[in-house]
Amino acid sequence: MGKRVVVTGAAQGIGRATAELCAREGATVVAVDRNAERLADLSGCEVRVLDLTDREAVTAFGENADAVDALFNCAGYVDAGELMATSDEGYRLSFDLNVHAITYMLRAFLPGMVSNGGGSIVNMASVAGPIIGVANRYAYCSSKAAVAGITRSVAVDYVGRGIRCNAICPGTVQSPSLDERLAATGDEQAARAAFVSRQPMGRLGSAEEIAYLALYLLSDESAYTTGQLHTIDGGWSMA
Ligand code: NAD
Repeated sequence: MGKRVVVTGAAQGIGRATAELCAREGATVVAVDRNAERLADLSGCEVRVLDLTDREAVTAFGENADAVDALFNCAGYVDAGELMATSDEGYRLSFDLNVHAITYMLRAFLPGMVSNGGGSIVNMASVAGPIIGVANRYAYCSSKAAVAGITRSVAVDYVGRGIRCNAICPGTVQSPSLDERLAATGDEQAARAAFVSRQPMGRLGSAEEIAYLALYLLSDESAYTTGQLHTIDGGWSMA
């Protein structure tokens, strides 16, 4: 791949799988997460411990970093509950991390990409919100729909300056935080079975399957796509 790539949320799940895949493919990867312990054993990547909701810290990170060719804004938070059951805290965190942190990262790294002649940005959305409504995910669906808007807005405004900006919309993917969400229901087995049953393929996705789409979008192989929501959901939204 031969590019310098920043991946957020890289300590676990899809971000981690993407950081390691890009590194194996020859990229110089800067892996960003607030979880220092889990970043520590990431193979083949530079690591940076950072709270992405801290605007000043993200700005300082961008000011002191080398220019990058590609950026994957992957970190995200899943808040549970329909409108009336959503806490102020969960709502705020959903937008702080899923939306505002992306804006901070874009402001920190996009100008350097433009100066360098261009680059590829990939934002992590979800099928939940941008593509379909999912029950009990008010803050999640609404914040991920904002990611779709960010993606299209940046794509349109910067297409003439060498910047591409796409979003990935996965269905349900096996990850450490998914395990926590299933356990939190009190009946992990039943919750897992319910999640699997809504997938036409009869299984959840893997982080590696999403990582290969991210690799494609971050690299020059995808040079003719921008401003798109790339759905990868095992057929969940096809009906
Ligand atoms: P995950 O939720 O298990 O891990 C998220 C990572 O983000 C963690 O390493 C965590 O430490 C980091 N993080 C959280 N808050 C942070 C902060 N303030 N600053 C820095 N890092 C922070 O991983 P996942 O389930 O693979 O999800 C990754 C992304 O994919 C998220 O945006 C999520 O919404 C999206 N997504 C996941 C699924 C799924 O089913 N797993 C489906 C669709 C979309």
